[in-house]
This record gives sequence, structure tokens and C-alpha cells, in this order.
Amino acid sequence: MFLSVFDVFKIGIGPSSSHTMGPMSAANRFLALLLSNEWPRPTGAHVAALRVSLHGSLAFTGIGHGTGRAVILGLMGEVPQSVDPDRMDAIIETVERAGQVTPPGHPAYQFQPKTDLIFDKKQPLPGHANGMSFSALDRDGRLLVKRIYYSIGGGFVVTDTELEAMRSAKTASSDARVPFPFSTAKAMLEMSRGSGLTIAQMKRANEETKMSTAELDEGLDGIWNAMTSCIDRGLKVDGIMPGGLKVRRRARAIHDKLNEEWRSNRLNPLLANDWLSVYAMAVNEENAGGGRVVTAPTNGAAGVIPATIRYYLHFHEDASREDVHNFLLTAAAVGGIIKHNASISGAEVGCQGEVGSAAAMAAAGLAAVMGGSPEQIENAAEIALEHHLGMTCDPVAGLVQVPCIERNALGAVKAVTAASLALKGDGTHFVPLDACIETMRQTGNDMSEKYKETSTGGLAVNVVEC
Ligand code: SF4
Repeated sequence: MFLSVFDVFKIGIGPSSSHTMGPMSAANRFLALLLSNEWPRPTGAHVAALRVSLHGSLAFTGIGHGTGRAVILGLMGEVPQSVDPDRMDAIIETVERAGQVTPPGHPAYQFQPKTDLIFDKKQPLPGHANGMSFSALDRDGRLLVKRIYYSIGGGFVVTDTELEAMRSAKTASSDARVPFPFSTAKAMLEMSRGSGLTIAQMKRANEETKMSTAELDEGLDGIWNAMTSCIDRGLKVDGIMPGGLKVRRRARAIHDKLNEEWRSNRLNPLLANDWLSVYAMAVNEENAGGGRVVTAPTNGAAGVIPATIRYYLHFHEDASREDVHNFLLTAAAVGGIIKHNASISGAEVGCQGEVGSAAAMAAAGLAAVMGGSPEQIENAAEIALEHHLGMTCDPVAGLVQVPCIERNALGAVKAVTAASLALKGDGTHFVPLDACIETMRQTGNDMSEKYKETSTGGLAVNVVEC
């Protein structure tokens, strides 16, 4: 199993990796298919119109997550990495006015979002809770080609056949194309003992089979720059977040108070918690506003890891660029194991898979840069994940705001506590990380669909929207 650090941490836009970035990428994949020869094109047939239907969780919470907007932008050829958040409204208005999409390199296709983009809450698709169906028709309305895509969390998108292949590959042997093909925490620790390398060094060796050292380091700098810029933007902006819940941004006001305390040397016994929380909230408020964020491992959970790194840099004067790289590599190693053996998708296993996974990754990264042994790092990840087990996904009004923003703050606090506890021990502990991940998978399987990003249970039905 090899999941690159750049697959785990992807620069994109908010508010959701599975419900915004994934659908935008799926639209791009469908456009690429239309230009390819990978479908039986009847002689003389030309694509004249497109239709899209969204299913399962995408249908239930897609409006709050901006899924429809993401599909329209994707059909205009925009991609999550480079779409300009300030231009998105204008692009969507153009499509709605013209009743067509005009992606670069393609002819214009008829596409009227009001009628050609369907939120189908009745019929889920069989492979995954986040299903999408894209169809291309000729000018007489005859179906030419249709593809099913699934957004499986963290911005990853697969076709139905790819999903099948992925599921059967889980039982096949590990990826032998990298020097350290660990797919479980147990294997990771054994390889570390056998090689004498840290988790970050093994992950680096795996990544460097695909790119040079300089490219890897530049890419890691790019991830951290995007994360820390997101924090900085979130700390500057005030006001009400979009979507209709009228939730006010709080990070800026909290940050102002913390700075005042910092300057006046006033004793604050909650100092670490406050800084962790404000950094995490800044990211998730930016995410809720549709700004540029990094999946870590998802958008909904995007605040935990940046907050923990920024906290580490804030309170450790000798912290270095290398520490940030090692943090990200270690966190990605743990995230890859979780994704491979369970899920990072709220629509599949609830919020334990999003904020729980992020906290486990952050705890591992922090334990690593604070000098933890591989066993202590595994212990830190396990503690953080264990204490998110069973956590449901129930966003109010389908928006990634309540409980998501505060949940990231708490996820970061738990991550730091988990790392601290693990570093006080010698790495031996009762529950192996692999057992905890398997428990998360089973708990997710047993969880009612109400609590898997459908906004039909939990807080989503018990909080009155104003
Ligand atoms: S409750 Fe958790 S899993 Fe659900 S949308 Fe919010 S952050 Fe994501």
C-alpha cells in the first residue's frame, strides 16, 4: 500500500473534500473521458448536452456543502487546486444565464443547473454513500455515455470499477514498488525496527521512489505554506459565514484577546488550549467560507493538523523546516494506514473517520518531532483515535460549521494530549493502533446512516435553525 503525502494533503477549496473537491474532480474526469476514445462513440455522434445526478449523502447535504456549485465549476474545467474562490460566483452565474458549460478544449454543452443537476435523495448508488452519475447526450437527447463516480473522502474520486478493484486489492499483498510497503501499524513498526529508520525516514524513502529529494521538500513546503496561509487568513476575517445558519466567525476576536494577553504577560493557565483552538478554528472558518484549504486528511477536519504544527512552531523556539517536513511525513504515514484499513470519510464511518483520523495523524506528527520513538508515535496516534471512536457526523443544515469548527479545535487539543501522554511512556501500551483502526471500521459499519453526513440525525435535527 502506498499513499503519497501529496494525496493525503491536497491543496483545494472548502467547504468539503468529499462533497466539494471530489465532485469537482469527478466533473473533470468526465470531461477528460468525453475527449478520449475510452467509450464506444457511435459514428458521427456528438455530445451536445450533459446531465448529472447526485446520490446518497451528496444529495442530502450537497446544497450546504456546495456540491452543485462544485459540479458546475468542474464542468467549466475548473480544478480544486487552482480555482479562484473570488471568481466562483461569476462563473456559476454565467452557466445559469447561458444554460451551457464551456470547458476549455471542448465545444459548448447544454447544461441548465436547475434541470440538469439533480439531487436524488431517493436512490443511493450501491458502491458508496457519495455517488454521482454523469451522462452525455446527443442533440436528440440520446444517451451516448454514462459514468458513475464515487467521492470516497479526502477529495479522492474513483469510478465504480476502480472502487471494486480497490476493495479487492485490500486483501492482496502490499505494494512492493516502494522500499517500505507497510499497510498496517504493526508492519510499520517492524520495518522501522528492521531498518533502524524513523517513520518519517521510511515515508521519505517511499516518496523518493516517485520524485527527487528537492521536489519532495518543495512539495512539503508548499503544503505547509498553504496551511499556514489559511490560518493567517482565518485570523484576519470577521463576519457571518455563508449558508444561512448565520454563524459568526470567532477566530479573529479570540486571536486578538490572546495577543493582548501575550503582550501583557498575563498568566493564562489555558494558554496551549486557546492557541490550538484559535488556529484550528481559523482554518475551519476559512473552509466554511469556501476558501483555500488543505485536506488533512479531509476539509471538514482540515484544522487539526495545521493547528498542531503552528502550535508546535509557536511554543518551540528551535523548531525547524525539517520538523515540519517530518511532522507531515509521519502524519501521512498514519493517515495512509487508516485510509487503507478503515476510512477517512464522514459519509462512510462518521466523524471518527475525519476529526478522529486527523487527531491521530497530528498526535503522531507531534510525537515524532518531539523526539518520540516509533512505538511512542504509534501509541500517540492510537490514544488520539481511540478517544474519537463512535463520533458521529451530524452537521447542522448540512454545513461544515456546527459542530465541525469547534470539533477541530477539540481534535487538536486531544492530539497534543495524546502525544504528551505517549511521550511520558516507553511505547508499550494496551490497545494496538491496528486494533483501534479496525474498531473504527466496525463501528462505522454499525452506525446508522443518520449519522453519516446526511444531516438526518443528531445535532442536525435537534438544533433549531434561525
Ligand atoms: S461532523 Fe465531522 S465528519 Fe461531519 S462534516 Fe463535520 S467535520 Fe466532517
